[in-house]
Amino acid sequence: MKIFNEPQQVIANRIKENSTISHWKDWKWQLRNTIKTIDQFEFLTGIRFTEDEKENLKETLDKFPLSVTPYYASLIDEDNYQNDPVFKQAMADSKELIVLENEMADPLSEESDSPVEGITHRYPDRVLFHVSNICSMYCRHCTRKRKVGDHDFIPSKEQLAKGIEYVRNNPVVRDVLLSGGDPFMLSDEKIDWLLSALSSIPHVEIIRIGTRMPVVLPYRITDNLVQILKKYQPVWINTHFNHPRELTSSAKEAVRKLADGGFPLGNQTVLLADVNDCPRIMKKLVQKLVENRIRPYYLYQCDLSEGLSHFRTPVGKGIEIMESLIGHTSGFAVPTYVIDAPGGGGKIPVMPNYLISWSTNKVVLRNYEGVITTYKEPEHYENKFCDRDCSDCKLELNLQEGDEFHALGIEKLLSDENDSISLIPENNDRHSRRKV
Ligand SMILES: *Cc1c(COP(=O)(O)O)cnc(C)c1O
Repeated sequence: MKIFNEPQQVIANRIKENSTISHWKDWKWQLRNTIKTIDQFEFLTGIRFTEDEKENLKETLDKFPLSVTPYYASLIDEDNYQNDPVFKQAMADSKELIVLENEMADPLSEESDSPVEGITHRYPDRVLFHVSNICSMYCRHCTRKRKVGDHDFIPSKEQLAKGIEYVRNNPVVRDVLLSGGDPFMLSDEKIDWLLSALSSIPHVEIIRIGTRMPVVLPYRITDNLVQILKKYQPVWINTHFNHPRELTSSAKEAVRKLADGGFPLGNQTVLLADVNDCPRIMKKLVQKLVENRIRPYYLYQCDLSEGLSHFRTPVGKGIEIMESLIGHTSGFAVPTYVIDAPGGGGKIPVMPNYLISWSTNKVVLRNYEGVITTYKEPEHYENKFCDRDCSDCKLELNLQEGDEFHALGIEKLLSDENDSISLIPENNDRHSRRKV
Protein backbone atom coordinates (compact mmCIF):
# COMPACT_ATOMS: atom_id res chain seq x y z
CA MET A 1 0.00 0.00 0.00
CA LYS A 2 1.43 3.40 -0.98
CA ILE A 3 1.37 6.35 1.34
CA PHE A 4 -1.27 8.75 0.07
CA ASN A 5 -3.18 6.15 -1.78
CA GLU A 6 -6.66 6.79 -3.08
CA PRO A 7 -8.71 6.31 0.10
CA GLN A 8 -6.30 8.60 1.94
CA GLN A 9 -6.56 11.29 -0.74
CA VAL A 10 -10.33 11.10 -0.76
CA ILE A 11 -10.54 11.57 3.01
CA ALA A 12 -7.88 14.29 3.03
CA ASN A 13 -9.79 16.26 0.39
CA ARG A 14 -13.07 15.85 2.22
CA ILE A 15 -11.37 17.29 5.31
CA LYS A 16 -10.09 20.23 3.33
CA GLU A 17 -9.88 20.69 -0.38
CA ASN A 18 -6.37 20.53 -1.84
CA SER A 19 -4.91 18.81 1.21
CA THR A 20 -1.48 17.49 0.43
CA ILE A 21 0.50 14.47 1.50
CA SER A 22 2.46 16.66 3.89
CA HIS A 23 -0.77 17.58 5.67
CA TRP A 24 -1.69 13.90 5.81
CA LYS A 25 1.66 12.87 7.24
CA ASP A 26 1.65 15.60 9.87
CA TRP A 27 0.52 13.93 13.08
CA LYS A 28 -0.80 17.17 14.49
CA TRP A 29 -2.93 17.67 11.38
CA GLN A 30 -4.27 14.15 11.88
CA LEU A 31 -5.07 14.94 15.52
CA ARG A 32 -6.79 18.21 14.65
CA ASN A 33 -8.96 16.36 12.18
CA THR A 34 -9.76 13.34 14.28
CA ILE A 35 -13.30 12.07 13.74
CA LYS A 36 -15.49 12.64 16.79
CA THR A 37 -19.05 12.41 15.49
CA ILE A 38 -21.16 10.00 13.46
CA ASP A 39 -21.92 12.68 10.87
CA GLN A 40 -18.25 13.43 10.39
CA PHE A 41 -17.52 9.71 10.14
CA GLU A 42 -20.18 9.28 7.44
CA PHE A 43 -19.00 12.34 5.53
CA LEU A 44 -15.34 11.33 5.53
CA THR A 45 -15.65 7.59 4.92
CA GLY A 46 -18.65 7.57 2.62
CA ILE A 47 -20.32 4.95 4.81
CA ARG A 48 -24.01 5.67 5.45
CA PHE A 49 -25.92 4.40 8.47
CA THR A 50 -29.71 4.15 8.64
CA GLU A 51 -31.56 6.64 10.86
CA ASP A 52 -32.15 3.85 13.40
CA GLU A 53 -28.49 2.90 13.44
CA LYS A 54 -27.51 6.53 13.88
CA GLU A 55 -29.90 6.91 16.78
CA ASN A 56 -28.38 3.85 18.51
CA LEU A 57 -24.83 4.90 17.78
CA LYS A 58 -25.39 8.37 19.17
CA GLU A 59 -26.74 6.88 22.38
CA THR A 60 -23.61 4.71 22.60
CA LEU A 61 -21.32 7.69 22.05
CA ASP A 62 -22.96 9.49 24.96
CA LYS A 63 -21.48 6.81 27.19
CA PHE A 64 -18.33 5.87 25.25
CA PRO A 65 -17.14 8.67 22.95
CA LEU A 66 -15.68 8.32 19.49
CA SER A 67 -12.26 9.25 18.21
CA VAL A 68 -10.81 7.94 14.95
CA THR A 69 -7.78 9.32 13.16
CA PRO A 70 -8.29 10.05 9.45
CA TYR A 71 -5.38 7.66 8.81
CA TYR A 72 -7.01 4.72 10.59
CA ALA A 73 -10.40 5.53 8.98
CA SER A 74 -8.72 5.31 5.56
CA LEU A 75 -7.99 1.61 6.19
CA ILE A 76 -11.69 0.70 6.39
CA ASP A 77 -13.03 -1.26 3.48
CA GLU A 78 -16.05 0.88 2.74
CA ASP A 79 -17.78 -1.77 0.61
CA ASN A 80 -17.65 -4.44 3.29
CA TYR A 81 -17.44 -2.36 6.44
CA GLN A 82 -19.79 -4.61 8.46
CA ASN A 83 -17.11 -7.33 8.41
CA ASP A 84 -14.14 -5.04 8.53
CA PRO A 85 -11.70 -5.53 11.43
CA VAL A 86 -10.57 -1.89 11.29
CA PHE A 87 -14.17 -0.61 11.32
CA LYS A 88 -14.98 -2.83 14.30
CA GLN A 89 -12.09 -1.51 16.35
CA ALA A 90 -12.82 2.11 15.43
CA MET A 91 -16.59 2.59 15.20
CA ALA A 92 -18.99 2.25 18.13
CA ASP A 93 -21.49 -0.57 18.34
CA SER A 94 -24.70 -0.27 20.35
CA LYS A 95 -23.81 -3.64 21.94
CA GLU A 96 -21.34 -1.62 24.04
CA LEU A 97 -24.31 -0.55 26.17
CA ILE A 98 -24.93 -4.15 27.26
CA VAL A 99 -23.44 -4.89 30.67
CA LEU A 100 -23.34 -8.55 31.64
CA GLU A 101 -23.02 -10.16 35.02
CA ASN A 102 -19.39 -10.29 36.21
CA GLU A 103 -18.39 -7.32 34.07
CA MET A 104 -16.78 -4.43 35.88
CA ALA A 105 -15.71 -0.87 35.27
CA ASP A 106 -12.20 -1.61 36.55
CA PRO A 107 -11.80 -5.41 36.33
CA LEU A 108 -8.03 -5.28 36.89
CA SER A 109 -8.37 -3.21 40.10
CA GLU A 110 -5.86 -0.75 38.69
CA GLU A 111 -7.26 1.99 40.86
CA SER A 112 -7.19 0.08 44.15
CA ASP A 113 -3.61 -1.06 43.47
CA SER A 114 -2.57 2.55 43.02
CA PRO A 115 -0.35 3.97 45.80
CA VAL A 116 -0.22 7.43 44.21
CA GLU A 117 -2.12 9.02 41.35
CA GLY A 118 -1.02 7.57 38.03
CA ILE A 119 0.91 4.57 39.38
CA THR A 120 -0.30 0.96 39.54
CA HIS A 121 2.17 -1.08 41.57
CA ARG A 122 1.14 -4.72 41.21
CA TYR A 123 4.31 -6.74 40.70
CA PRO A 124 7.39 -6.78 42.93
CA ASP A 125 9.90 -5.06 40.64
CA ARG A 126 7.95 -2.94 38.16
CA VAL A 127 5.19 -0.34 37.95
CA LEU A 128 2.66 0.85 35.43
CA PHE A 129 2.74 4.63 35.08
CA HIS A 130 -0.31 6.26 33.42
CA VAL A 131 1.28 9.34 31.91
CA SER A 132 -1.53 10.43 29.63
CA ASN A 133 -5.27 10.24 29.80
CA ILE A 134 -5.87 10.44 26.07
CA CYS A 135 -5.34 8.56 22.82
CA SER A 136 -5.46 9.60 19.19
CA MET A 137 -8.01 6.84 18.61
CA TYR A 138 -10.42 5.36 21.10
CA CYS A 139 -10.21 1.63 20.50
CA ARG A 140 -13.68 0.20 21.01
CA HIS A 141 -12.16 -2.73 22.92
CA CYS A 142 -10.23 -0.54 25.38
CA THR A 143 -9.83 -2.25 28.76
CA ARG A 144 -9.82 1.20 30.38
CA LYS A 145 -13.12 2.04 28.69
CA ARG A 146 -14.36 3.52 31.98
CA LYS A 147 -11.89 6.35 31.55
CA VAL A 148 -12.08 6.97 27.82
CA GLY A 149 -13.01 10.55 27.10
CA ASP A 150 -13.89 11.13 30.76
CA HIS A 151 -11.96 14.29 31.05
CA ASP A 152 -9.28 14.44 28.42
CA PHE A 153 -6.06 15.76 29.77
CA ILE A 154 -2.35 15.39 29.69
CA PRO A 155 -1.16 15.43 33.30
CA SER A 156 0.87 18.49 34.20
CA LYS A 157 4.53 18.15 35.16
CA GLU A 158 3.45 18.64 38.80
CA GLN A 159 1.08 15.67 38.55
CA LEU A 160 3.65 13.49 36.79
CA ALA A 161 6.19 14.48 39.42
CA LYS A 162 4.19 12.51 42.02
CA GLY A 163 4.65 9.30 40.04
CA ILE A 164 8.34 10.03 39.47
CA GLU A 165 8.71 10.67 43.19
CA TYR A 166 7.10 7.30 43.96
CA VAL A 167 9.55 5.51 41.67
CA ARG A 168 12.45 7.42 43.19
CA ASN A 169 11.40 6.45 46.72
CA ASN A 170 10.93 2.76 45.90
CA PRO A 171 14.26 1.13 45.07
CA VAL A 172 12.51 -2.19 44.24
CA VAL A 173 11.23 -0.60 41.03
CA ARG A 174 13.69 -1.47 38.27
CA ASP A 175 11.25 -1.35 35.32
CA VAL A 176 8.87 1.53 34.63
CA LEU A 177 6.14 0.92 32.08
CA LEU A 178 4.69 4.10 30.61
CA SER A 179 1.11 3.67 29.56
CA GLY A 180 -2.05 5.72 29.51
CA GLY A 181 -3.83 6.65 27.38
CA ASP A 182 -1.02 6.82 24.90
CA PRO A 183 2.32 8.17 26.18
CA PHE A 184 3.10 9.47 22.69
CA MET A 185 0.22 11.95 23.04
CA LEU A 186 2.65 13.93 25.16
CA SER A 187 4.68 16.58 23.38
CA ASP A 188 8.26 15.74 22.45
CA GLU A 189 9.40 18.23 25.06
CA LYS A 190 7.43 16.54 27.83
CA ILE A 191 8.54 13.06 26.81
CA ASP A 192 12.12 14.27 26.93
CA TRP A 193 11.58 15.75 30.41
CA LEU A 194 9.81 12.64 31.74
CA LEU A 195 12.34 10.12 30.41
CA SER A 196 15.20 12.25 31.62
CA ALA A 197 13.71 12.33 35.14
CA LEU A 198 13.01 8.58 35.22
CA SER A 199 16.29 7.46 33.75
CA SER A 200 18.27 9.56 36.20
CA ILE A 201 16.93 7.36 39.03
CA PRO A 202 19.76 4.91 39.72
CA HIS A 203 17.58 1.83 40.34
CA VAL A 204 15.51 2.26 37.16
CA GLU A 205 17.15 -0.25 34.82
CA ILE A 206 14.69 -0.06 31.93
CA ILE A 207 11.84 2.11 30.69
CA ARG A 208 9.05 0.58 28.66
CA ILE A 209 6.53 2.45 26.54
CA GLY A 210 3.17 1.00 25.55
CA THR A 211 1.75 2.82 22.53
CA ARG A 212 -0.71 2.21 19.71
CA MET A 213 0.62 5.12 17.62
CA PRO A 214 2.38 2.88 15.06
CA VAL A 215 -1.05 1.33 14.34
CA VAL A 216 -3.47 4.26 14.48
CA LEU A 217 -1.25 7.29 13.84
CA PRO A 218 2.12 6.08 12.51
CA TYR A 219 3.20 9.62 11.55
CA ARG A 220 3.65 10.32 15.27
CA ILE A 221 6.88 8.34 15.06
CA THR A 222 8.99 11.22 13.80
CA ASP A 223 12.76 11.34 13.49
CA ASN A 224 12.78 13.88 16.29
CA LEU A 225 10.87 11.58 18.62
CA VAL A 226 13.27 8.72 17.86
CA GLN A 227 16.25 11.01 18.59
CA ILE A 228 14.76 11.91 21.97
CA LEU A 229 14.02 8.31 22.94
CA LYS A 230 17.51 7.24 21.92
CA LYS A 231 19.02 9.34 24.70
CA TYR A 232 17.39 7.14 27.32
CA GLN A 233 18.26 3.60 26.26
CA PRO A 234 17.45 0.92 27.27
CA VAL A 235 13.90 1.76 26.17
CA TRP A 236 11.61 -1.09 25.18
CA ILE A 237 8.53 -0.34 23.11
CA ASN A 238 5.35 -2.38 22.99
CA THR A 239 2.77 -1.68 20.35
CA HIS A 240 -0.70 -3.04 19.67
CA PHE A 241 -1.41 -4.58 16.26
CA ASN A 242 -4.51 -6.77 16.23
CA HIS A 243 -4.86 -7.66 12.57
CA PRO A 244 -2.46 -8.15 9.62
CA ARG A 245 -4.36 -5.47 7.67
CA GLU A 246 -2.99 -2.89 10.10
CA LEU A 247 0.58 -3.43 8.88
CA THR A 248 0.36 -0.84 6.11
CA SER A 249 3.33 0.85 4.48
CA SER A 250 2.89 3.83 6.83
CA ALA A 251 2.84 1.54 9.88
CA LYS A 252 5.89 -0.37 8.61
CA GLU A 253 7.76 2.87 8.13
CA ALA A 254 7.04 3.92 11.74
CA VAL A 255 8.12 0.53 13.03
CA ARG A 256 11.28 0.62 10.91
CA LYS A 257 12.29 3.94 12.46
CA LEU A 258 11.85 2.50 15.94
CA ALA A 259 13.71 -0.73 15.16
CA ASP A 260 16.53 1.19 13.48
CA GLY A 261 16.61 3.44 16.55
CA GLY A 262 17.61 0.34 18.47
CA PHE A 263 14.46 -0.17 20.52
CA PRO A 264 13.43 -3.77 21.09
CA LEU A 265 9.84 -3.95 19.83
CA GLY A 266 7.08 -6.10 21.23
CA ASN A 267 3.41 -6.40 20.38
CA GLN A 268 0.35 -7.00 22.50
CA THR A 269 -2.73 -8.32 20.70
CA VAL A 270 -6.18 -8.60 22.20
CA LEU A 271 -8.19 -11.61 21.11
CA LEU A 272 -11.39 -10.09 19.69
CA ALA A 273 -14.48 -11.85 18.40
CA ASP A 274 -15.09 -11.20 14.70
CA VAL A 275 -11.82 -9.29 14.40
CA ASN A 276 -8.98 -11.78 14.87
CA ASP A 277 -10.44 -14.90 16.54
CA CYS A 278 -9.09 -17.12 13.77
CA PRO A 279 -5.94 -19.27 13.74
CA ARG A 280 -5.10 -18.31 10.16
CA ILE A 281 -5.48 -14.56 10.72
CA MET A 282 -3.44 -14.79 13.90
CA LYS A 283 -0.66 -16.76 12.22
CA LYS A 284 -0.50 -14.21 9.42
CA LEU A 285 -0.39 -11.40 11.99
CA VAL A 286 2.49 -12.84 14.04
CA GLN A 287 4.50 -13.68 10.94
CA LYS A 288 4.08 -10.17 9.55
CA LEU A 289 5.06 -8.71 12.91
CA VAL A 290 8.28 -10.72 12.98
CA GLU A 291 9.00 -9.77 9.39
CA ASN A 292 8.89 -6.17 10.63
CA ARG A 293 11.16 -6.89 13.60
CA ILE A 294 8.37 -6.88 16.19
CA ARG A 295 8.32 -9.74 18.65
CA PRO A 296 4.76 -10.88 19.53
CA TYR A 297 4.72 -10.52 23.32
CA TYR A 298 1.25 -11.13 24.72
CA LEU A 299 -2.03 -12.37 23.31
CA TYR A 300 -4.65 -11.14 25.77
CA GLN A 301 -7.92 -12.75 26.61
CA CYS A 302 -10.38 -9.83 26.37
CA ASP A 303 -10.93 -8.33 29.84
CA LEU A 304 -14.22 -8.28 31.75
CA SER A 305 -14.61 -4.53 31.28
CA GLU A 306 -18.11 -3.13 30.87
CA GLY A 307 -19.03 -2.64 27.24
CA LEU A 308 -16.78 -5.35 25.80
CA SER A 309 -19.08 -8.40 25.95
CA HIS A 310 -19.50 -8.55 22.16
CA PHE A 311 -15.71 -8.75 21.76
CA ARG A 312 -15.14 -11.60 24.19
CA THR A 313 -14.46 -15.17 23.10
CA PRO A 314 -14.28 -18.36 25.15
CA VAL A 315 -10.77 -19.09 26.49
CA GLY A 316 -10.84 -22.22 24.32
CA LYS A 317 -10.56 -20.04 21.21
CA GLY A 318 -7.28 -18.65 22.49
CA ILE A 319 -5.93 -22.09 23.31
CA GLU A 320 -6.94 -23.31 19.86
CA ILE A 321 -5.00 -20.39 18.36
CA MET A 322 -1.94 -21.16 20.50
CA GLU A 323 -2.18 -24.79 19.37
CA SER A 324 -2.03 -23.58 15.77
CA LEU A 325 1.04 -21.40 16.41
CA ILE A 326 3.35 -23.40 18.69
CA GLY A 327 5.55 -25.59 16.53
CA HIS A 328 3.80 -24.45 13.37
CA THR A 329 5.73 -21.21 13.04
CA SER A 330 8.95 -19.58 14.34
CA GLY A 331 9.24 -19.80 18.10
CA PHE A 332 9.76 -16.08 18.49
CA ALA A 333 6.59 -15.42 16.50
CA VAL A 334 4.55 -17.08 19.24
CA PRO A 335 3.16 -14.75 21.94
CA THR A 336 2.27 -15.80 25.46
CA TYR A 337 -1.49 -16.12 25.83
CA VAL A 338 -2.57 -14.50 29.10
CA ILE A 339 -5.68 -13.82 31.12
CA ASP A 340 -5.32 -10.69 33.20
CA ALA A 341 -6.88 -11.87 36.45
CA PRO A 342 -9.96 -9.92 37.53
CA GLY A 343 -9.34 -8.29 40.89
CA GLY A 344 -5.71 -7.44 40.18
CA GLY A 345 -4.06 -10.86 40.23
CA GLY A 346 -1.98 -9.96 37.21
CA LYS A 347 -1.39 -11.81 33.97
CA ILE A 348 -1.78 -15.56 34.04
CA PRO A 349 -0.38 -17.56 31.12
CA VAL A 350 -2.62 -20.20 29.56
CA MET A 351 -1.37 -22.92 27.20
CA PRO A 352 -2.42 -26.16 25.60
CA ASN A 353 -1.11 -29.16 27.58
CA TYR A 354 2.07 -30.73 26.29
CA LEU A 355 2.99 -32.76 29.39
CA ILE A 356 0.90 -35.94 29.20
CA SER A 357 2.24 -37.92 32.13
CA TRP A 358 5.37 -38.69 34.14
CA SER A 359 6.94 -41.21 36.47
CA THR A 360 9.98 -40.96 38.77
CA ASN A 361 12.39 -41.12 35.85
CA LYS A 362 10.45 -40.42 32.67
CA VAL A 363 8.27 -37.70 31.25
CA VAL A 364 5.70 -38.35 28.52
CA LEU A 365 5.13 -35.44 26.16
CA ARG A 366 3.30 -34.74 22.95
CA ASN A 367 4.35 -32.35 20.21
CA TYR A 368 2.35 -30.11 17.87
CA GLU A 369 1.94 -32.97 15.35
CA GLY A 370 0.41 -35.25 17.98
CA VAL A 371 3.56 -37.38 18.24
CA ILE A 372 3.83 -38.82 21.74
CA THR A 373 7.36 -39.08 23.03
CA THR A 374 9.31 -39.68 26.24
CA TYR A 375 12.14 -37.82 27.89
CA LYS A 376 14.38 -39.82 30.23
CA GLU A 377 15.35 -37.85 33.31
CA PRO A 378 18.92 -37.93 34.72
CA GLU A 379 19.73 -40.86 37.08
CA HIS A 380 22.19 -39.00 39.27
CA TYR A 381 20.90 -35.51 39.83
CA GLU A 382 21.93 -34.32 43.22
CA ASN A 383 19.17 -32.40 44.90
CA LYS A 384 20.43 -29.16 46.36
CA PHE A 385 18.86 -27.78 49.48
CA CYS A 386 17.34 -24.48 48.48
CA ASP A 387 15.58 -22.09 50.80
CA ARG A 388 16.35 -19.23 48.40
CA ASP A 389 18.98 -17.97 50.82
CA CYS A 390 22.09 -18.04 48.66
CA SER A 391 24.67 -17.68 51.43
CA ASP A 392 25.22 -21.45 51.85
CA CYS A 393 24.94 -22.38 48.21
CA LYS A 394 27.99 -23.64 46.33
CA LEU A 395 26.81 -22.27 42.99
CA GLU A 396 29.02 -19.32 42.23
CA LEU A 397 26.29 -16.81 41.53
CA ASN A 398 28.00 -13.91 43.24
CA LEU A 399 24.75 -12.04 43.19
CA GLN A 400 24.97 -9.01 45.39
CA GLU A 401 21.24 -9.06 45.94
CA GLY A 402 21.40 -12.72 46.92
CA ASP A 403 21.09 -12.11 50.64
CA GLU A 404 18.02 -9.93 50.20
CA PHE A 405 16.07 -12.48 48.21
CA HIS A 406 12.63 -13.44 49.47
CA ALA A 407 10.77 -16.22 47.73
CA LEU A 408 7.17 -15.34 46.95
CA GLY A 409 3.97 -17.29 46.31
CA ILE A 410 4.27 -20.67 44.62
CA GLU A 411 8.02 -20.09 44.28
CA LYS A 412 8.15 -20.12 48.07
CA LEU A 413 6.31 -23.46 48.23
CA LEU A 414 8.94 -24.93 45.91
CA SER A 415 11.87 -23.65 47.95
CA ASP A 416 13.07 -25.69 50.94
CA GLU A 417 11.67 -23.33 53.53
CA ASN A 418 9.98 -25.55 56.08
CA ASP A 419 7.44 -23.01 57.30
CA SER A 420 5.51 -22.82 54.05
CA ILE A 421 3.64 -26.01 53.28
CA SER A 422 0.57 -24.42 51.78
CA LEU A 423 -0.93 -21.11 50.76
CA ILE A 424 -4.29 -20.67 52.45
CA PRO A 425 -6.85 -18.02 51.49
CA GLU A 426 -7.82 -15.53 54.17
CA ASN A 427 -11.02 -16.46 56.04
CA ASN A 428 -10.68 -20.12 55.19
CA ASP A 429 -13.65 -21.82 56.91
CA ARG A 430 -11.79 -24.96 57.90
CA HIS A 431 -9.04 -22.92 59.52
CA SER A 432 -11.44 -20.64 61.35
CA ARG A 433 -13.03 -23.74 62.96
CA ARG A 434 -9.67 -24.78 64.41
CA LYS A 435 -9.28 -24.56 68.16
CA VAL A 436 -6.10 -22.49 68.21
C1 LIG B 1 0.99 -5.88 32.45
C2 LIG B 1 1.39 -5.12 33.62
C3 LIG B 1 2.73 -4.97 33.95
C4 LIG B 1 3.85 -5.57 33.13
O1 LIG B 1 3.80 -6.95 33.15
P1 LIG B 1 4.88 -7.78 32.33
O2 LIG B 1 4.38 -9.19 32.45
O3 LIG B 1 6.19 -7.54 32.99
O4 LIG B 1 4.87 -7.27 30.93
C5 LIG B 1 3.04 -4.27 35.09
N1 LIG B 1 2.08 -3.73 35.87
C6 LIG B 1 0.77 -3.87 35.59
C7 LIG B 1 -0.24 -3.28 36.50
C8 LIG B 1 0.38 -4.57 34.45
O5 LIG B 1 -0.91 -4.69 34.15
